[in-house]
Amino acid sequence: MSAQILDGRKLARAVRGELTREAADLQKQTGSVPRLVNVMIGSDAGSCAYANSQKRVAQQIGIEYELVTLPSDIAVEELITYIRQLNEDATVNGIMIHKPVPDHIDYRRVANNLDVAKDLEGINVTNVGKMLLGDSKMIPCTPAAVMEHLQAAGVDLRGKETVIVGASEIVGKPLSLLLLRQMATVTVCHVATSEAGHLKDHIRRAEVLVVAVGKAGLIKGEWIREGAVVIDVGINKVGDRIVGDVEFEPARKRAAFITPVPGGVGPVTVLMLMRNGVEAFKTQYQKIKTTS
Ligand code: NAP
Repeated sequence: MSAQILDGRKLARAVRGELTREAADLQKQTGSVPRLVNVMIGSDAGSCAYANSQKRVAQQIGIEYELVTLPSDIAVEELITYIRQLNEDATVNGIMIHKPVPDHIDYRRVANNLDVAKDLEGINVTNVGKMLLGDSKMIPCTPAAVMEHLQAAGVDLRGKETVIVGASEIVGKPLSLLLLRQMATVTVCHVATSEAGHLKDHIRRAEVLVVAVGKAGLIKGEWIREGAVVIDVGINKVGDRIVGDVEFEPARKRAAFITPVPGGVGPVTVLMLMRNGVEAFKTQYQKIKTTS
């Protein structure tokens, strides 16, 4: 058996096509397009490369995208004042805080100062709570990309043994809520699961496996259940290669579907950010229409 590859670049092109049409329709209806602002504090090569790829995708779709770089020693109060100005600026529809931020910046405090309706990554505590209740339009982008892959592959999650490895606030935890909403049976594994020696046992029974840890080869191919769906979120640099957290070749022989790294979840994630931007614009435009 050799798994079907879930091609993220192909899926991203399809979503990009949908969003391009939607942005053109919005332009016709409203005379403007979504405008997104990415706030970066300081800059490093990795962050700039990611921001450049966001900018390129935004341009392809026909969305306005601006990268604002603030000094790395900016005080948190000054940063919050700037975020509040963006909140008040009616020409800005979506805002993101580029991670990582310098150590002296209290990321949670900054996130909670984002306008809930402009919070592109769904990180404000109100949006986090709304997600728990199944009531948020601003779904964090990487979990949304995982769900997009599962949907495109036609995976019926109802009652499926679904195992997530990694419980971070941006990937594993929000993803567990999205999967629960689809009635999957969800197990979330983390460091203590490995410490207790139980990781392999959980993976062996996973019909759907999502791994988001950041450790190359953590998941052995031989642990994968025959016919499983494997989504590898991990990004690791090994020598001059980029690899995921799952041993790809041996896993591919056992799985029914598998995402490659690179070219799996990553390309779809940036499109989910753009989709949130379009949703934010529509919500704000609707609000303006109903109040005017
Ligand atoms: P993170 O914040 O460092 O979280 C890693 C998670 O993995 C934590 O929950 C941690 O457990 C768990 N973990 C660490 N070692 C483990 C082990 N030996 N066994 C089981 N669980 C273990 O990382 P993240 O931001 O979620 O990112 C995870 C990976 O996804 C990284 O490689 C990142 O580059 C990649 N990523 C990719 C995309 C994309 O679009 N493709 C987007 C975001 C992130 P504890 O909670 O117990 O510490």
